[in-house]
Amino acid sequence: MQYYYTRKNPDARGVIQVHADRCKDLPVVLERIYLGIFPNANLAISSAKEKLQLTKVRICACCKE
Ligand SMILES: [Zn+2]
Repeated sequence: MQYYYTRKNPDARGVIQVHADRCKDLPVVLERIYLGIFPNANLAISSAKEKLQLTKVRICACCKE
């Protein structure tokens, strides 16, 4: 299980990135939203879509698996 966060602001293509807390690209505290603790990235993404009403959500490249 890992802690997951979303970046507050979307990137240039309107995509919100999700990061695990071990990520080296994890946004600083003021630029991230705590999502919760999940066993994998797919569940974190589902939760972000549901809770934050987002449609374009991607896991950070180094946080897959
Ligand atoms: Zn990452």
